[in-house]
Amino acid sequence: MSKVAQYLQEHLVGEVMTSVDARRYFATDSSIFSLPPALVVYPRSENDVRKTARFTWQLAERGRVIPMTSRGSGTDQTGAALGTGIVIVFPAHMHRILELDTKANTVTVEPGINYGKLQQTLHTHHRFLPPFPASMEYSTVGGAVANNASGEKSVKYGDTRNFVTSLRVVLANGEVIETSRLSKRDLNKKLGLASFEGEIYRQLDTLLEENKPLVSKTLRNVTRNNAGYHLIDVLRGDGSFDLTPLFLGSQGTLGIITEISLDTEAYNPSTTLLLASFDSLEQTQAAVLALRALPDVPSAIELVDGHLLDLVQARNPNLLREVMPQPFPTAVLLVEFDNANERSLKRAVRRANKIFEQYASSLHTETDPERQNNFWKIRQASSTLLANNEGHDRAVPLIDDATIPPDQIKNYMQAVYALLEKNNLPIAVWGHAGDGTFRVQPALNLSLVGDRQTAFRLMDEYYKLVISLGGTVSGERNDGRLRAPYAELQYGPEVTALFRKVKQIFDPYGTLNPGVKVGVSLDDIRALVRPDYSLDHLYDHLPRS
Ligand SMILES: Cc1cc2nc3c(=O)[nH]c(=O)nc-3n(C[C@H](O)[C@H](O)[C@H](O)COP(=O)(O)OP(=O)(O)OC[C@H]3O[C@@H](n4cnc5c(N)ncnc54)[C@H](O)[C@@H]3O)c2cc1C
Repeated sequence: MSKVAQYLQEHLVGEVMTSVDARRYFATDSSIFSLPPALVVYPRSENDVRKTARFTWQLAERGRVIPMTSRGSGTDQTGAALGTGIVIVFPAHMHRILELDTKANTVTVEPGINYGKLQQTLHTHHRFLPPFPASMEYSTVGGAVANNASGEKSVKYGDTRNFVTSLRVVLANGEVIETSRLSKRDLNKKLGLASFEGEIYRQLDTLLEENKPLVSKTLRNVTRNNAGYHLIDVLRGDGSFDLTPLFLGSQGTLGIITEISLDTEAYNPSTTLLLASFDSLEQTQAAVLALRALPDVPSAIELVDGHLLDLVQARNPNLLREVMPQPFPTAVLLVEFDNANERSLKRAVRRANKIFEQYASSLHTETDPERQNNFWKIRQASSTLLANNEGHDRAVPLIDDATIPPDQIKNYMQAVYALLEKNNLPIAVWGHAGDGTFRVQPALNLSLVGDRQTAFRLMDEYYKLVISLGGTVSGERNDGRLRAPYAELQYGPEVTALFRKVKQIFDPYGTLNPGVKVGVSLDDIRALVRPDYSLDHLYDHLPRS
């Protein structure tokens, strides 16, 4: 055991591990990267996290920087759950529900709690957390908060940021803060604190006050955006101030989250699902735009294109039998309404039907949960692609995220088809059409130099395309190491310099998950690509995406 590990084990209640197998296990997340940590800490309480941070701060003051990377279940697809120093693993011990307030409809949890388990508990109280990621069965709430996760229900309910009301966070120097929206008066009290917390409030307040035009440049005309730091909602026009939205989506680069309070939403499992097929991308886009404009927005507007269905049919001919007749259409939309009120549900479905009469080539309406599940198989068909294990090719997460304005769906899909065709890769696009958030996961063999070159060429062309359409490179799954190099292309040098200043305020010594979100170049990440990409730690589940 190294001296650092020894010191930590003597001071923490939780376990410290340096074994080769533990370090090998935590050297990968669900991204294409590999980076072994020096040691692994399993905190048993906030106090353990605090002591770990305090220790790394003291070492950094003396010139020795040891990075700290917080980790939930490691399903991150951007390499953000990897680090060369201390990996702090939350699910082992810090996984409790601390308070479930059924009157206020709020819940407070530790970050390592499994998202799916929390969701089940909430269901028993007729509540739920709508922005759940497709990976919720095997990921944590802490990871969802740090990534500002979203999913199929976000078209109606928004992303995780919409639900988190306050956080407890361990700062880089080991101080603990609580965040929530502060009135101008309460902000003044914070500004007067003679602590690192006070320093952060003072510096950030000045930075935001002095850079309002730059802050507004971080806004894009999209429904979801996780690229860079979310500065827009920290300082409001009324003078109120809240660090919570900034920590949401910050991927452990500004602080370590130890407690999360969230609002919950009423859960209505009796939904109506519409399955519509389309003969052209023009009609698909027109239907999506009309659905988005409805007074009652659907609780899901999901898209699967005909190319994905063809690929799935070739690999698993039984999956779509009896669900989707061949030949497959250009695109399929699955549209769900979860209105609790019967009359408003019927009205919403009637309105949607009118839209489909105009644009769709066929339509099925389903209210029976079992038959609905059968239809959802169409959307879940992407699992067949992601789970493909033949030979050395794997469906790699390189261009698996982006959100474009929904009125660019046709242009986006046509351009992506052309890009994949040019590179001799099978075509398939699917995702949250209602939000303009799409997935593309081409199969490549990253042990081959040629395929690695293709990977970086694809990324370059894809993210340039997304930006040219007015989109954001990180709509849902965040920047991590993967997309951070594209921040400057998206926002320009001044805004990226502002992000770097924010990082500097919270993390002056660079101990908080360095190499993630800010100050990352393509050369930095090229060296980290692992030749043997796999989702092997998820084989108990079929990865939905
Ligand atoms: C098949 C598949 C499907 C997916 N689908 C979706 C989806 O639909 N929507 C979506 O948004 N994402 C999706 N993801 C990405 C990922 O699963 C989610 O973002 C998930 O919420 C991450 O949770 P985790 O527990 O695995 O976090 P990790 O991967 O362990 O960590 C994620 C990030 O959070 C940070 N972090 C973790 N805990 C803390 C903490 N306590 N304090 C500070 N930082 C912390 C980590 O440092 C890292 O930067 C998918 C991934 C896979 C593999």
